[in-house]
Amino acid sequence: MKTGIYGGSFNPVHNGHIHLAETALEEFRLDRIFFVPCRISPHRFDGEYVSGIHRMEMLRLACGDNEKFQISGYELENERTSYSIYTINHFRRKFPDDELYLLVGSDMLMSFEKWYRFEEILKNVTLAVISRNTGDRDILLEKAEKLGQYGRIVIGKTAPLVVSSTEIRKKIAKNENCSCYLDKNVVQYIKSENLYRMPYAPVPDGDIG
Ligand code: ATP
Repeated sequence: MKTGIYGGSFNPVHNGHIHLAETALEEFRLDRIFFVPCRISPHRFDGEYVSGIHRMEMLRLACGDNEKFQISGYELENERTSYSIYTINHFRRKFPDDELYLLVGSDMLMSFEKWYRFEEILKNVTLAVISRNTGDRDILLEKAEKLGQYGRIVIGKTAPLVVSSTEIRKKIAKNENCSCYLDKNVVQYIKSENLYRMPYAPVPDGDIG
């Protein structure tokens, strides 16, 4: 079985994340993908960072009824720093016969050699990269070739969907409409739980989507 491991803060999960996962399923013929939300320091209270429970719930809503998408609480349940190599080792122990893919956006590839134990990561998984910016394919291929001495790296061909959680959090704080970047149930959840409203910049009642 070909299994994708997809880590991130998912704060909140947006259409770019889902685009990455759907593209990886199709282009690399994966059988399933585990979304693995990371821990965010519980000391950050500033409204920009929401709890693991909220991020898990938004992932559950955004994944909908896609049976190939699953959500893992592994990193949220472990108090130590969420290094990817630990998560990969966990999935390796759980699914010893699977071919493991680590899914990342292209920004992560560009700084990949700064990741903790990156050589070991590349020994254990195929790194599957999906572009975040139009026209960056040549740069990505060049980078993949350099890192190729450590393991297998594959780059998707599908056009990117340019969006980030940072941009979305800023928009919500300003009460701007985000419905083109988010699943409609996620929009509803953010509204009903009143997430991402800056405590120091109250906004009048309004509509995010
Ligand atoms: P933030 O703006 O808060 O840093 P983000 O939008 O980059 O968040 P993360 O949850 O940090 O999202 O990203 C998790 C993974 O998803 C990373 O590998 C990242 O490169 C990838 N990713 C995020 N957005 C996109 C996108 N629009 N297209 C492809 N990959 C993406």
